Amino acid sequence: MDRNYDIVIIGSGLGGLVCGAILSKEGKKVCVVEKNDQIGGNLQTFRREGITFDTGVHYVGGLEKGRNLYQIFNYLGIMDRLELVKMDEQGFDVVLFKDDETEYPYGMGYENFSRIMCEKFPNDREAILTYCQELKRICDNFPLYNLKAGEQYNDTSVFSTSAKEFIEQLTPNKKLQNVLAGTNLLYAGIAHKTPLYVHALIINSYIESSHKIANGGDQIAKLIARVIKEHGGDILRKQEATKIQVEEGKARYVELKDGDKIYADTFISNIPPAQTLKLTDTAMIRPVYRNRIKELENSISVFAIYAVLKPGTYPYHNRNYYYHNKEDVWKNMDYTDETWPPTYAMFECVPHKQKQFAEAIIVMNYMRYSEVEMWADTFNTTLNENSRGENYEAFKKRKAEKLLDTVAIKFPNIRECIQSYYTSTPLSYRDYIGSEDGNMYGVIKDFNEPLKNRISPRTKVPNLLLTGQNVNLHGVLGVTVSAVITCMMMLGKDYLVNKILKANEETI
Ligand SMILES: Cc1cc2nc3c(=O)[nH]c(=O)nc-3n(C[C@H](O)[C@H](O)[C@H](O)COP(=O)(O)OP(=O)(O)OC[C@H]3O[C@@H](n4cnc5c(N)ncnc54)[C@H](O)[C@@H]3O)c2cc1C
Repeated sequence: MDRNYDIVIIGSGLGGLVCGAILSKEGKKVCVVEKNDQIGGNLQTFRREGITFDTGVHYVGGLEKGRNLYQIFNYLGIMDRLELVKMDEQGFDVVLFKDDETEYPYGMGYENFSRIMCEKFPNDREAILTYCQELKRICDNFPLYNLKAGEQYNDTSVFSTSAKEFIEQLTPNKKLQNVLAGTNLLYAGIAHKTPLYVHALIINSYIESSHKIANGGDQIAKLIARVIKEHGGDILRKQEATKIQVEEGKARYVELKDGDKIYADTFISNIPPAQTLKLTDTAMIRPVYRNRIKELENSISVFAIYAVLKPGTYPYHNRNYYYHNKEDVWKNMDYTDETWPPTYAMFECVPHKQKQFAEAIIVMNYMRYSEVEMWADTFNTTLNENSRGENYEAFKKRKAEKLLDTVAIKFPNIRECIQSYYTSTPLSYRDYIGSEDGNMYGVIKDFNEPLKNRISPRTKVPNLLLTGQNVNLHGVLGVTVSAVITCMMMLGKDYLVNKILKANEETI
């Protein structure tokens, strides 16, 4: 059955949904096509033994009233329906090191953050205050991060500055350097590549405010999808886009796996850019651009344990833990089979029954795609269930047990608290999200070649735009801002920013 829309969006990840909601609020007839049964991409959740587990969103920055993400979500009309839990203001993230008994909490709000850091590092007060000032200054430099219309970057040097070197220049104190970079799993930090702006935009948003989504990150996807539908849009699940047909200098339709064609005036792709290019063979997109996109290096992938806890055994802390075996937090990706896991992040799911006890935890750690490549020709999602084989199950079990041994170093009773656990590997992310290697955060940003890895929302096909974590930045905040940027290409920059600001003035 062929259909006609103003806008077709490929992929219902956060970026696709936010674009869909903005454009349908502007009166456009929108259609989102999603290959999975569940919408949301990395916002998807799954349920085991009555517990909802998040797969790709554990906490969100910028959702405090008046902050950047709050303002965009408020404009979309989902803010008052989102069930949030504010994390511990005295330490929403806590950095731990194997051979150090001290815990290093990140306080929420710059006052708490600097006070707590100065208590831990009394001789480094000046460095800590400079770090806070610099983070704020760098973030002020990004007009859209601050929802400012009509302004340009004042200082482009942050794109070509190293996050690691910036921190090292603040203080010779190695422990403080590693504590300040201790949550770098949030952006898969690489010593010789991660730019300062990536560190600053992400860490600043969490310091300003950190919230968990009470019933799982899929709440965000469901609420935004509702906005699209309330404005007359359609979301087609279990519909994989297999082709973008370009004719006479324009994209004409998207073809679905079952052969249906969906026509539109404009197309937005929320899937990884390399995958987008595979969907169209148009000569308008030159080989040099195709090669550049194909050769961009992706971020590392992830192995995760989702553990159901025995009731009343493990206290709920309302904070996340970032653990490191070694003091140099920038070396965590250089692991071998023997040294894995070098690090982990542990997230406690918001409890529903007894508030003082956690019902479930998620522990995640880096894993290279090459470790699961021997099962690359298997595919397994809820829509297309297949076994990857016994040796894959044994591999996962071995990894999970090693990871739990490492967790037990700081949480010695953890095994007694676990009732059962489930795991995911880079293949799970590959199959559910549609990237080739299950990468976590899309294309790696590199301060050595800042322009090379920047992907514009525009393509050479004038009515084919890109959005999502590869354009701009990953994370709920980064992707939402990416979607605003993509929509600005159609609606005008000042127009959209002013609409967001006005919607917030009206609700104050
Ligand atoms: C393990 C992990 C933990 C994370 N934790 C956090 C966190 O705590 N806080 C935070 O802010 N961010 C976190 N992130 C990052 C955040 O989840 C992502 O940056 C964001 O959700 C990506 O959104 P996106 O718009 O790029 O779409 P994606 O999530 O990449 O979704 C793309 C969608 O396109 C669909 N698709 C693909 N191909 C096709 C096709 N051919 N046809 C139709 N549909 C298709 C996919 O099924 C998917 O639904 C985490 C990510 C990971 C992996």
